[in-house]
Amino acid sequence: MRFVQRKPISDSAEKYLSTQRTNIGKSSKKADFSSTTHWENRRDTIVKHGILGILKEMAGSRERCMYCLDSHATDIEHHHPKSLAPYSKMFEWANFLLCCTDCGRIKSNQFPLDENALPLLINPSEENPWQYLDFDPLTGNITATYQVLQKGFSKKGQVTVEVLALDAREQLAKGYFKTWNRLVKAVEKFLKTPYLASEFIDKLLEKDDHHLLGWCFHGTGENEYPFNELKQRHPQLWQSFVNHPELLIPATQEKL
Ligand SMILES: [Zn+2]
Repeated sequence: MRFVQRKPISDSAEKYLSTQRTNIGKSSKKADFSSTTHWENRRDTIVKHGILGILKEMAGSRERCMYCLDSHATDIEHHHPKSLAPYSKMFEWANFLLCCTDCGRIKSNQFPLDENALPLLINPSEENPWQYLDFDPLTGNITATYQVLQKGFSKKGQVTVEVLALDAREQLAKGYFKTWNRLVKAVEKFLKTPYLASEFIDKLLEKDDHHLLGWCFHGTGENEYPFNELKQRHPQLWQSFVNHPELLIPATQEKL
């Protein structure tokens, strides 16, 4: 999972969504209301308003799933499921993500809340996922991060891993593992024979299909070989990575 910068939608798209948010209050009270049918009847209009296109732009050139990053994302996903009240969330731009069929199927209508009724499923467009998630370089699995100060695993991380089965999908782990090995090789090569920093940064970003650099530079991956060595031997270069626009995280989120 990676942090995704949300882009604005057109005024007409926002107007359409706003009207739908108002109207759904009445519709949802009808005895034969079905959230799936209600959405399906309006989905094409939403797509015509350019919303799917903007989500694809946000997901980057490879249109990777915003939850698992491994598969080709196909459809509009509701972070707060469309089948759960309040139904107005069905038409909230901030609630839209892009995800693959596997994540959509596995997540289904799961949406656990904490004791303050706040979502425990990470929203990659609102927070830095690597604040709650960890990567296991031995298995390729995504796990919950251990929070030293709280002396326990991140609840948000645990729930997200469980809801999306991020530690139990063989193909997913294979993909992450492949990317990790590519990154390790590139860093080892650079440590052995350093070359132009800007070229190295571009090369590493290009190889990072799973946003593992977010884990390395804004997560616990900084302690993992060979990234720990890169940090120690090339502190200035390390800082360039930390501040790189593609790896930036929301300003309000501090690493725990
Ligand atoms: Zn996915």
